Amino acid sequence: MDAMDMQCLLLFLKDGQGDRYYAGQVDGIWGSRSRSALRAFQSDWPGLTPTGEGDADTFDALRQAVAGGMPHREEAAEEDSFWDHITYFNREEFRCKCGGRYCGGFPAEPKEALVRIADQLRKNLGGPITVVSGLRCWQHNAAVGGVENSQHMYGEAADIYAAGCTQAQVEAELDAIGGVRYHYPIAGSSNVHFDIPKGGR
Ligand SMILES: [Zn+2]
Ligand SMILES: [Zn+2]
Repeated sequence: MDAMDMQCLLLFLKDGQGDRYYAGQVDGIWGSRSRSALRAFQSDWPGLTPTGEGDADTFDALRQAVAGGMPHREEAAEEDSFWDHITYFNREEFRCKCGGRYCGGFPAEPKEALVRIADQLRKNLGGPITVVSGLRCWQHNAAVGGVENSQHMYGEAADIYAAGCTQAQVEAELDAIGGVRYHYPIAGSSNVHFDIPKGGR
C-alpha cells in the first residue's frame, strides 16, 4: 500500500471525526502519527485488526469509509446499555448481511423496542431464534428486494426464524407480546417479518 494514498484517505475521513484519524501531513512518511491514526480506524471498522500498518483489506475498508461513511461509533456506545438487559441476543446478530460490501454492518442501530420484543419472543417460545435479516443498508435492502424505505434500514424490523415453531405460532406470540406494528409470514420460507412503529426508540 502506498503510504501517501493511505494518508490521503485518512485525511478525507477526518471530517466529522475530530482528530481521531488525523494522520499528519500527506508526505508519504509512515510515522507514528500515521500509524496511530490507521490503528484507530482499524479498531473502529468491523473485522480489521488494529496493526497500524496498511494491508489490502484496510485499504478497501478505507475507500468504503470515505465513500459511505463510518459505522456510527458514538451511537453504538450510547445505546450499548440496553443490551445488558437482553438475554438471548447480541448486537452482532442484527448486523447487515451485505458482508461489509456496502456498509460497516450497522447503517443504524437496532432499536431497543425491537430487540426487547425479540428477546421476549425467544423466552416465550422456549427455543432458538435466528435473525435472518436485521439491519440493512440501502444497497443491501435493494439487493434483497426490500421495499423502498424498509424499516430494516432503521433497525426497526427483523426477519426471524424460530426452530420448531410454525409461522402462525410465532405471529400469535408476537400479538400476545404487543408493541409490534406489522408482522407477516415471509412467503416461501419459515421466516416471519415483524417491525415496530417508525421513529420510536
Ligand atoms: Zn450493508
Ligand atoms: Zn422483513
